[in-house]
Amino acid sequence: MPKTRAPLKTPAAHSSGGASAAMPKALLDFAANLMGAEDPVLENIRRKTPEKGLPPISIGPQEGKILETLARSCGARKIVEIGTLAGYSACYLAKALGSEGVVHTVEYDVRHAAVARQNIAGAGLSDRVIVHEGAALDVLPKLESEGPFDVCFIDADKANYHRYLRWAVGNVRSGGLIIGDNAYLFGKLHLEPKQAGEDAAGIPAMREFLKTLADLNLFSSCAMIPTSEGMAVAVRR
Ligand code: SAH
Ligand code: MG
Repeated sequence: MPKTRAPLKTPAAHSSGGASAAMPKALLDFAANLMGAEDPVLENIRRKTPEKGLPPISIGPQEGKILETLARSCGARKIVEIGTLAGYSACYLAKALGSEGVVHTVEYDVRHAAVARQNIAGAGLSDRVIVHEGAALDVLPKLESEGPFDVCFIDADKANYHRYLRWAVGNVRSGGLIIGDNAYLFGKLHLEPKQAGEDAAGIPAMREFLKTLADLNLFSSCAMIPTSEGMAVAVRR
């Protein structure tokens, strides 16, 4: 099984995302503050994740708001998330739903799934998030009868992204969204696999994932949202 990996970004980069010499963190934080603080319940989940022994590899608050906004913009009621961790991103996706909606989130680490269930309950979202335990490639076929889905958010082991995308193409409705986090592959997407250490297997997988998102027979448009990690999104044709 793929192991959990260390994050590329520092926790501080979470607040703004994408900070660089050209785009100073002070500017990004200033702009983000104008657009509202992080929900305190979600902030608490994010900050306490490392204290609970889980790796600090969740999306950040700006990426959470992007997810919520994308999901709302397509009127999402049924969402699949691959890679739950502590449930932080699942909560943003759940916030986008009406009371009839559901997020199915898939996690193979039982400790992560247990923390996620606690956090989701603490956020008052247990009625609309189901945490499925198991390896995603085993669990996803069992979810198909609940579909078609409005959004599939892919954020688990990178070496399987092309396989998760194949599943999503078959199970996301026309006009629905497929979103992939860490699309820059921790800054290694453009390298030779032998230069990429533990991420070597992710290189061909992520490249195939991105090329497939650009296939106009399958998607009407695609874009890279240039967060610090790269968030790829495409609209299913
Ligand atoms: N989406 C979360 C972060 C997910 S981190 C957030 O932003 O809040 C990636 C998670 O995927 C980890 O918890 C890891 O245990 C899980 N994972 C990795 N490979 C998996 C697989 N094959 N099947 C299911 N979960 C997997
Ligand atoms: Mg991620």
